[in-house]
Amino acid sequence: MKKKAVALLSGGLDSKLAIRIVQAQGIEIEALSFKTQFNCCNDEAGQAARELGVPVTMLSTDEEYLRVVEKPKYGYGRAVNPCTDCRIYMFALAAKFMEKVGASFMISGEVIGQRPNSQMKRQLEIIDRDTGLGGLLVRPLSAKLLPPTKPEIEGILDREKLHGISGRSRKELIQMAHDFGMKDIPQPSTGCLLTEPEVGFRVKDIFKNQKEYTRWDFDLVKFGRHFRLSENAKVILGKSEEQNLKLEAYYEEGKSSLFIPNNFYGPSALLIGELTEETKDLAIKLLMNYSKKPRVEGEEPVLDFKTGGEESQVSVAVGTSINPVDYQLERK
Ligand code: SF4
Repeated sequence: MKKKAVALLSGGLDSKLAIRIVQAQGIEIEALSFKTQFNCCNDEAGQAARELGVPVTMLSTDEEYLRVVEKPKYGYGRAVNPCTDCRIYMFALAAKFMEKVGASFMISGEVIGQRPNSQMKRQLEIIDRDTGLGGLLVRPLSAKLLPPTKPEIEGILDREKLHGISGRSRKELIQMAHDFGMKDIPQPSTGCLLTEPEVGFRVKDIFKNQKEYTRWDFDLVKFGRHFRLSENAKVILGKSEEQNLKLEAYYEEGKSSLFIPNNFYGPSALLIGELTEETKDLAIKLLMNYSKKPRVEGEEPVLDFKTGGEESQVSVAVGTSINPVDYQLERK
């Protein structure tokens, strides 16, 4: 076996420590960091790689990952995070990377019992089995609580110098970070939007109501106020000037219609899906619900409207009102 390993690096404390422990045994490390549409860890991973002195390759997930999120074999965590399936997906890609760079085993910063949906002993066994990596996947922080892996059996790694940490406490991990002289100790965070309940409702809404979806649909779950208007249409309202501009940039002909307040302060609205008189009317009423009066006293509110590549203006009848709660996304 070669003394070279691929390490999954999120930039969090656990993955950094796992690398330090194995580096201390003279193993060459090549790091791999995943960027899904729902996480934001790549800067941390790049910074951590520089700090650890290891090369890092950033890998973006593709549409196949969205199907993993839609139908996870092992279910969701507290929101719409399919952690066990997500880890299996990532380790399977990492296994290919391992072959490509000529590494002979893999390490990850998982700690038994730290996360209920992907790091219980049972889940680690499932991950080993479903990826076919059993024996080649080393968890240096919890290794002594797990069966010996191939590099330990072959003497590439000294099992005695690996650890037997379990549970949610960070005390031992922080002490170890100090022992390694790490200055930057990251706060615990998954950095993954799929763990956030509000994002979860939006993602589930797409799976339930849309036969087809692309990355575009999921980029939009990250911000704004979301309302379902009909089986085939929903609307997103911006919550700030920045979000309004973002929504306007996401307008796509054939997929969406855009409403922008012309003579008053209010949110921009992106209607996604079927544009009918009814969905248009509902979108406008919702937009008006979060708007102020026209800047000039007595003026009728006017919206700039864009759909199918055509632009026009819509005057809004005064007195339109709606209860947004009636159109909120399913919350389960
Ligand atoms: S928190 Fe997100 S990125 Fe991390 S394993 Fe779970 S689903 Fe995957």
